[in-house]
Amino acid sequence: RLWALSLAFRLSRLAVPATGFVLLPVAPPVRSCSGGMTASAGFAAGDREAAEAVGVVVRAAAASPFDSDDTISPVVKTVSPSKTLEVHALTQEMKARGERVVSLCVGEPDFQPPPAVIEATAAAAKEGVTKYTGVTGTVDLRKAICADLARRKNLTYSAGDIVVANGAKQAVYQAVLAVVRPGDEVIIPAPYWPSYPEMVRLAGGIPVIIETTVEEEFLLTAEKLRGALTDKTRMLIFCNPSNPTGAVHSKERCEELAAVLSEEGGKGSGCWVLADEIYERITYDTPHVAFATIPGMFERTMTVNGFSKSHSMTGYRLGYLASPPIITKAVTIIQGQITSCASSISQAAGLVALTVSDEEMQATFDVMRKKRDFVIKRLSEMPDLATAVPQGAFYVFPDVSAHFGKSAPDGTVIGGATDLCLYLLRAHSVALVTGDGFGYSKCIRISYAASMEEIDEALAEFDKCLCSLA
Ligand code: PMP
Repeated sequence: RLWALSLAFRLSRLAVPATGFVLLPVAPPVRSCSGGMTASAGFAAGDREAAEAVGVVVRAAAASPFDSDDTISPVVKTVSPSKTLEVHALTQEMKARGERVVSLCVGEPDFQPPPAVIEATAAAAKEGVTKYTGVTGTVDLRKAICADLARRKNLTYSAGDIVVANGAKQAVYQAVLAVVRPGDEVIIPAPYWPSYPEMVRLAGGIPVIIETTVEEEFLLTAEKLRGALTDKTRMLIFCNPSNPTGAVHSKERCEELAAVLSEEGGKGSGCWVLADEIYERITYDTPHVAFATIPGMFERTMTVNGFSKSHSMTGYRLGYLASPPIITKAVTIIQGQITSCASSISQAAGLVALTVSDEEMQATFDVMRKKRDFVIKRLSEMPDLATAVPQGAFYVFPDVSAHFGKSAPDGTVIGGATDLCLYLLRAHSVALVTGDGFGYSKCIRISYAASMEEIDEALAEFDKCLCSLA
């Protein structure tokens, strides 16, 4: 045994050749000099025989020590890649091969940013607004954000409470990083925006998923929230309006949820609320209420918003967090060390975006409403779908589970939502996103941020597809 140990020690100190071998232990494992349970090193042919003689399994190593199983941090291995981006990438690939695909996948509006925003973008570049800004963004933009939140959302923040980030996505992640400690639980109602649980995992936290159903119109209930709270609950991520369901929690529903968090002796007393309100301007019949305006919630709510959805400025990467000073301070430290600041040109454009009149903005949202109505009508004519009428954003999330177990004309068995999406893409050239990516495997997501022609064509094919299943 001593000999085996000294061999392992010797081997572990050898430089790994470009095309070498690694040692894999057989039971009992060989303890390496570095204290690990496996000896893992490249070695010469003579040493290899010696190693095999002591029961070490040899396999071909990766081409480089920078390309092995150990290369990537274990934290990253707990994180799933973005499924919505995957489908989008596959669709792009098919298009690049010359195949025609109608895609209702993407999470961005199909209209252009307001003309004034485009002009401001060009002007900023020409006029030399091309340098770093302060970490939290320009004072002018932060003041304008506060004025906008006060006027439209009845929220009272000062410029010092705002951190402008490279998109709402960064704002969400930094808010999570600011308060979630390893082992903390973060409540995420499902269906959810796919990044939430992954961001929680990156922070070392534990996502606690509460399922809502199509029958409940995908709204979180007070009972379900109460049931999910524990002594370890650190945060509730509350996406309102919701991606992917389009559900909008009314003022009354928000008050019920807030009451649970405020219950005396309840487990919600230390629970932060991350209110992702990026879709708040795109709402239909249920008015949107900022969660931070619910009595007792301002001190514990972090409000995320941005310019991607409302102003169709997804590529500008501009969003923000409005939060209590203790959070703002922490988030400023994080952002200062990872991205410094949002693009100066985007910030200049964002400032002008906030001056676009409500009427001009509403005109584009009215078009969205027409598309929503059209989609809902078409879906209601299709066989065996259960659909909650979305009250915001630009997504519909029909339950397609009645079709699971059926077969397509080519013999493909539709085992679940992913099978259905893949079959639809292959046989009908229509790209939709499987609900699996949103933590809800009974549904698929349809984004109606597309032209009427595309929506019409895609839904006609979807209908044909469903009717062909038996
Ligand atoms: N939150 C939700 C719910 C979203 O759907 C998105 C974008 N898909 C974001 C945040 C991120 O938006 P941004 O482009 O501003 O990073």
